[in-house]
Amino acid sequence: MNVVLLGPQGSGKGTQADMLEERLEIAHLASGDVLRAARESDTELGATVRRFYDAGELVPDAITIELILDSMRRHMAGGVILDGFPRNLAQARALDAALAAAGQRIDAVVELAAPLDVVRERLVGRRTCRAQGHIYNVVTNPPATAGVCDVDGSELYQRPDDNPQAIAKRLEIWARENGELTRYYGDRGILHRVDADRTPEAVLEDAVALLGRLGARPVAEG
Ligand code: AMP
Repeated sequence: MNVVLLGPQGSGKGTQADMLEERLEIAHLASGDVLRAARESDTELGATVRRFYDAGELVPDAITIELILDSMRRHMAGGVILDGFPRNLAQARALDAALAAAGQRIDAVVELAAPLDVVRERLVGRRTCRAQGHIYNVVTNPPATAGVCDVDGSELYQRPDDNPQAIAKRLEIWARENGELTRYYGDRGILHRVDADRTPEAVLEDAVALLGRLGARPVAEG
C-alpha cells in the first residue's frame, strides 16, 4: 500500500509516519530527511539544498523530485508512506508517473488537519534527536533530561529551519500549495482527513483504522 501524508509542518506527519511504519510494516520515507542528508554533502548540490532549506524555501523541483523518487524506488517493494512529498502539483504528477511505471499507485492520502497557531507553537518548541530523528517538544513533550534523547541518548538539536522566520515562510508556502494538492487527490476520491489537534496516540488509532478499512493489515501492538 502506498500512502501520502499531507498537513502543515508540525501537524505530526513524521511522528505518525514513524508509528504507522511500525504498525503497518510499510516503509516511511520523509523528504525532509532525504534533503537534510543531501544538505550535509560537500558538493554543489549540497550547497544548493542548504541555501533553500535554511531559508525555509522549497528546494527546486528538479532536485527534489530526482532525489525522492530515487529513494522511493529503493523502498517501494512493500509500499511506502510518503511524508513531506509531494508538496506541489508538479511533484504529485511526477510521483504518479513513477508509480505507474512500476505498476503501482497511491492508495490513500491522509491529511493531518491542525490549526496554524497550534502547529506554529509545536514547531518553535520542537527538538529533534541527532541520531534517529526522534521528536520532542520543550513544552508539551520534554525529554527526561534536557537536551538528551530518551530513546538513544543522542543530542537533541533545534533544526535550522525551526526558527520563527523560516517557520512563517514554510507555513505560508504550505497554505499556498496545499489547496491544489487536496483538490487533486480529492477529485480522485482518495483524500481522507484526520483531526491532528489531539494526542499522537489518538491520531494514530484513527489513521490505522482508516488505512485498515482501505486494505492495510496492522500488526499486533507490542
Ligand atoms: P520538512 O522536514 O518536511 O519540514 O522539510 C524541511 C525542508 O526540506 C523544507 O522546508 C524544504 O526546504 C525541504 N523540503 C522537504 N520536502 C520538500 C519537497 N517535497 N519539495 C521541496 N522542498 C522540500
